[in-house]
Amino acid sequence: MEIHKIALLTSGGDAPGMNAAIRAVVRSAIYHHLEVVGVLKGYQGLIDANFVSLQLESVSNIIGRGGTILKTARCAEFFEKEGRKKAVEQLKKNRIDGLIVIGGNGSFRGAHLLAIEHNFPVIGVPGTIDNDIMGTDFSIGSDTAVNTALEAIDKIRDTVSSMERIFVVEVMGRKEGYIALRVGLGGGAEDVLIPQTEYDIERMCEDIKRGRKRGKVSWIIIVSEGVAGSKDVASLIEDITGFETRSITLGHIQRGGSPTAMDRILASRLGAEAVNALLKGESDKMTGISGEEVKLVDFISACAQERKKKNRLDREIYGLVRILAT
Ligand code: ADP
Repeated sequence: MEIHKIALLTSGGDAPGMNAAIRAVVRSAIYHHLEVVGVLKGYQGLIDANFVSLQLESVSNIIGRGGTILKTARCAEFFEKEGRKKAVEQLKKNRIDGLIVIGGNGSFRGAHLLAIEHNFPVIGVPGTIDNDIMGTDFSIGSDTAVNTALEAIDKIRDTVSSMERIFVVEVMGRKEGYIALRVGLGGGAEDVLIPQTEYDIERMCEDIKRGRKRGKVSWIIIVSEGVAGSKDVASLIEDITGFETRSITLGHIQRGGSPTAMDRILASRLGAEAVNALLKGESDKMTGISGEEVKLVDFISACAQERKKKNRLDREIYGLVRILAT
């Protein structure tokens, strides 16, 4: 099927760099003489035909802006076959020949079903701060989120070392400890609690007590949100060690802000490649990065739970955090 007109949406959790990806899709589609339609509010906007026409100037000055100009949403109806059928009917009614979805794992599960149930061309662009999508080294937004959290941790360290305190810092990351591990290593944290490795609070408290005896007075412990709340961990440490322990949850600040150079470049490359993929007749795949190379990955592999390679890297980084903290 020849492609003349494409639609573009952002779905699921927003991530810094999504706007840069939107810009890349729109500008490269127009370069290839395609018409581009923006879908507002993710899959819900598809079902409701909440469409806007996108021109070259629609994406002016958004490369450095956080969030997504197309808005994002979660959509219960899209989990149902009937909802996806309505979405395809709207696409066909508007003479749209292909769809680009910028989002995370969940959005790609939906995109996969749309592609196979209706034989409709769909290409994904990985955008999530959690970097939990298989088949790509990085997802758009994760580098910015790590840098934002790191900046906050540097500030916390100033007060931690002045006041001689233990601080538990909770960072985002759902089932993954991607952000926690990177800010743990980059921020020089004393310990990291992440879902993918065993953790032992008793052992950590023993380390803290031993450290105090040696004269080490300040500690920063990073907790990934998938493990426990920072308040609970702090009160447990206080109960076991008897030392005053403070907690902070960084929360949604990690989703915002201007994307880093790395995320802008990644978004520009992956967005443009999504358009190329549709033009080549590809579907049911996402664009991804492997080393320096942009590539296409089946949605099925992208959403796979198997994470052997990343687990190995996670364990290596975790080990290094502990060695360097001593
Ligand atoms: P993310 O894409 O960031 O992982 P979600 O998991 O919330 O975010 O998914 C975003 C949206 O994608 C959901 O609200 C839903 O509309 C759609 N979606 C997610 N999982 C599925 C699924 N298994 N089948 C169909 N649609 C899905």
